[in-house]
Amino acid sequence: MSDIILCTFNARYTHSSIGLRCLFANLKELQESAKIIEFTINSSVEDAVEQVLRENPKIVGIGAYIWNAVEVGDFIKIIKSVAPHIIIVTGGPEASYFPHRVDFSLSDYFVQGEGDVAFYELCRDIYDENPPKNKIIKAPMVDLSQVKLPYRYYSDEDVAHRYIYVEASRGCPYSCEFCLSSLDKKVRNIDIDIFLKELQILWDRGVRSFKFIDRTFNQGIERANRFMDFFLSKEPPYFIHFEVVPDNFPSSLKERIKQFPPASLQLEVGIQTLNPEISNTIYRKLNIEKIQRNLNFLDNETKAHLHVDLIVGLPGESLESFGKNLDMLYSMTKCEIQIGILKKLSGTTIDRHDKIYGMIYSSKPPYDILQNDLIPYEMMQKMKRFARFWDLVYNSGNFKKSVTYLFAEGKIYDGFFAFSEWIFAQTLSTWQISLDRLAKLLFDYIVNALHVSKDELKPIMTKDLLVVETRKLPKFLRYDTKETEKKEKRPSFNKRQLKHSAH
Ligand code: SF4
Repeated sequence: MSDIILCTFNARYTHSSIGLRCLFANLKELQESAKIIEFTINSSVEDAVEQVLRENPKIVGIGAYIWNAVEVGDFIKIIKSVAPHIIIVTGGPEASYFPHRVDFSLSDYFVQGEGDVAFYELCRDIYDENPPKNKIIKAPMVDLSQVKLPYRYYSDEDVAHRYIYVEASRGCPYSCEFCLSSLDKKVRNIDIDIFLKELQILWDRGVRSFKFIDRTFNQGIERANRFMDFFLSKEPPYFIHFEVVPDNFPSSLKERIKQFPPASLQLEVGIQTLNPEISNTIYRKLNIEKIQRNLNFLDNETKAHLHVDLIVGLPGESLESFGKNLDMLYSMTKCEIQIGILKKLSGTTIDRHDKIYGMIYSSKPPYDILQNDLIPYEMMQKMKRFARFWDLVYNSGNFKKSVTYLFAEGKIYDGFFAFSEWIFAQTLSTWQISLDRLAKLLFDYIVNALHVSKDELKPIMTKDLLVVETRKLPKFLRYDTKETEKKEKRPSFNKRQLKHSAH
């Protein structure tokens, strides 16, 4: 039984909530009556409520994020209908800004902003029978030298099975209008010596997978170098993830990045657009020359695994411009290129473009753009599928060489768009396509639409797929293709038909 329950719905079991642990760490004398319970968005909300009620809590704090807002809304409704005496406190980015596009209205309190201290103070007031009259608690930014750090509240199970999220700073000096982090312009750092001690404790407990949630890891180079040195002094294997800005890689940082062994360092490099006019419109800093130079360095002189990203639907950006961005980015790097669809997050200033550019967004999380003046709804739908197939075929790395057949004459966007349209016409879905089926579809497209000979493509796709040594090749690559085709022309039966035809 716990008086205070801190809970949320994580996107996956392997994710752990650093936010809940920050609140828990700062509960002072109330900590012994508190407990963290985490669910995933695939959990049944009814079961989650049942589990929380079993604790007979007085206060339930729940974290609302873009990936779980619907589940949180349902959770609040159920809990308030069956146990209205429980005080619900909702926090997290989805609760922190208006409008709330998911109904959280039955929540008793909203903690808006950083809850590390504000949640404790609210609980204290409730315990003292002096609860605030205002439902909305405006939490000021905390002094990071005064708050307790959350790391010891990662359990042994977390250490064994989940990513461990760590945070050495809060805030971002940049102003990209679609991004919530742009609201918190002053970068606040956690004392590096204290932070490194915590990292060491986690390391000693066996953590080998660290995800830094700092928005711009390479802003303060001296600090970045010290983090790099910390990990470089350790025995691999380990895995570290940093988010970086593409234009700040001085030589001291480069020298360190070069030393990381394969599969140990992942860098998420935000690009979003390479069109100077568009980046200007959304107040995003862009220096193409530096991006080119640094991506070239990271790609060719380091073993770091890179993710770069582009956004579809930015105000004023046509698909022609997006296509040029993709072509240009592909010419700079062969790493994963994540294609995101613009989202309108409450609290950001991206909505100032709504009228000018005819921006229409979904009112449901994750609030994707539906259309704008330059990209009608039907095209936006096509681009969502493009992004999904791009992930399956290009980013998956399963078709490293074969996929390049789609990109004739450096026309990455045009080539992949045609393929994306074709494959969707075959599958009518972007989900639940097995690797074997995907391989066969890609093979058929390259052979039939691009007129590449089977004899040329077969060894290339075979080599692509056998990058994973234990992988079993799909049938059409295992046997003589003609034989396979003959076999495939036979009427096919699903399992039920086979059972019925067995006698
Ligand atoms: S997109 Fe990245 S650089 Fe821009 S404000 Fe957000 S965190 Fe900062």
